[in-house]
Amino acid sequence: MNSKLKFYQSIRFKIALVFVLILMLTLECVGAVFVRQLEHQNLNTFKQTIELPSYVDNSLAEQLSRSNTKKANKQINQILSEVNNNNISEIRVVDNKSIVRGTSNADNRSAIGQKTTDQAIKATLLNNRSHTENLYDNSNHTRYYVNVIPLVDNSNNNVVGAVYLRASLESVYSNINNITLVYLSAAMITIVLSLILAIIISQEITRPIEEMRKQTLRIARGVYSGQVKVLGNDELGQLAGAINNLSVRVEEAQESSDSERRRLDSILSHMSDGVLATDRRGNVTIVNNMALQLLGVENEDDLIGKSIIDVLDIRHEYTVRQLVNGEQREMIIDMSNSGNNLILNAYFSPIQRESGFVSGLVCVLHDVTSQQKEERERKQFVSNVSHELRTPLTSVRSYVEALSDGAWQDKKIAPKFLRVVQDETDRMIRMINDLLSLSRMDAGTTKLNLEYVNINELFNYILDRFDMIIKKGEDPKKKKYTIERYFTKKDLWVEIDTDKFTQVIDNIMNNAIKYSPDGGVITTRLLETHNHVILSISDQGLGIPRKDLGRIFDRFFRVDKARSRKQGGTGLGLAISKEVINMLGGQIWVDSVEGKGSTFYISLPYVPYEEEDWDDEETEK
Ligand code: ADP
Repeated sequence: MNSKLKFYQSIRFKIALVFVLILMLTLECVGAVFVRQLEHQNLNTFKQTIELPSYVDNSLAEQLSRSNTKKANKQINQILSEVNNNNISEIRVVDNKSIVRGTSNADNRSAIGQKTTDQAIKATLLNNRSHTENLYDNSNHTRYYVNVIPLVDNSNNNVVGAVYLRASLESVYSNINNITLVYLSAAMITIVLSLILAIIISQEITRPIEEMRKQTLRIARGVYSGQVKVLGNDELGQLAGAINNLSVRVEEAQESSDSERRRLDSILSHMSDGVLATDRRGNVTIVNNMALQLLGVENEDDLIGKSIIDVLDIRHEYTVRQLVNGEQREMIIDMSNSGNNLILNAYFSPIQRESGFVSGLVCVLHDVTSQQKEERERKQFVSNVSHELRTPLTSVRSYVEALSDGAWQDKKIAPKFLRVVQDETDRMIRMINDLLSLSRMDAGTTKLNLEYVNINELFNYILDRFDMIIKKGEDPKKKKYTIERYFTKKDLWVEIDTDKFTQVIDNIMNNAIKYSPDGGVITTRLLETHNHVILSISDQGLGIPRKDLGRIFDRFFRVDKARSRKQGGTGLGLAISKEVINMLGGQIWVDSVEGKGSTFYISLPYVPYEEEDWDDEETEK
């Protein structure tokens, strides 16, 4: 901003200049009229002073009428010498034959008796009219006034001659000049004084303007504290008031826009979604914390200025134009390459002005990793279920086909085939029952029959059943195994659903037997911590490879599919066990060394009762 205004550019100077110019013009006009009038007046007065009295004219006319020229000339010169007028330079008398008869100027006496050549005299003699003219004598730089008056003989009204008067005008003009000079000096002094006055006055007028200028500069810099002094109720006073008002309004607007921005900042930084904003060319201008986190970037400077399609790594699929034009509003971005293994949903919306001009782009990033994972798992689950059911169904069909093709007549093969069909059907029914109970648990519709059970007693009871199966030795094909028990002596009362808990232990025990060699030892333990009971079942079987430990409780997961299927497994037993234990508020986990054996642990929440509580209750009874 040009804060240094040159003096000649300022309003102050312009006002003073106009003021002085008007004054000069006025003085000029007044002076011109005045000088003209003065000149006219002075000249008139002068002309009157040099007029010859009428008796002089008469006596001159009389002398000219005389026939004695010599005497008459003498008389004429006598009369002329008697005319005592300092203003007159020369008086000449000429008769009607244009001969000079007398002069008041002694130097010009030689002209007497000579014929005059003066045109004015000739014209006067001819016209009988007086004649005046102003002359300028170059030889002595003097202005003269010349007056030629005809002389008339009163008796017969004949023109007898003329009087030629010559008077210097220098005294008149020097007088006029003197007065003009005085007038001019007075005018000059007036102009100088009024110039000073004009500058002072215009300075006073423009001082508030200067103040207002400074205040507006302060407002522009964002300093709102100042106030312009309101010095009156004129236009400038009102302008000053308006500027003060403006300053307050601007401050308010600034404050509200600041607080709006702060609010927006805090909303952005606390948003659970990532937000990126770009300019028209798709270069990132704003990033919030969540966006940094989702994109796995530490510093926002790493993103600012970069193209959004590079930041989101979608340059191969989309162009900035597509995003800005709104052709591609939503997309799923897999960030697994970038290291933080997230799947993001990106929603793009162009920032449009009222005119329709797109000035940028806003991208909202939402973490959909878990949804996507669930979706994937759901699809996987459906495909697993169909696969698991198709395998037994295919084998059932082929056996039934074989039977209907004639095998039913073969007494040896037919019962075998029918057994397989029955086994497969049983397995399918088991699997469907398992799936149903899992889906009930997923939907949260499973009802738990909770009761306080002495877990020590219950665990012993379940294991006794397994011991009985061995003792009975009903099935000669079944494996042999020994169960060892290391239990705490204490009664541990835990709130559980007995049926469901029994199902879990059955499942783990069956697995331990299934995946153990013949004659293996199964070690069971029961102990308590201060708020949990922990059960464990260890076998000396195949063990589980380390890489599969994390997936052992997944639905349909089996380390060795073929083996499990051969043994009638569904791959859902551990998944159901985990759901049940979780519903009871406990945890289930596994520890295994491949080739050595596995240990399954179950922990359940437990509140140890104080003996005294019972005593108190008993005494109360
Ligand atoms: P399945 O019906 O196949 O036994 P589970 O869900 O009960 O289904 O078990 C899942 C898988 O975990 C089994 O297929 C098996 O590979 C593995 N597994 C379970 N228990 C044991 C164990 N005690 N020793 C070795 N592997 C086991």
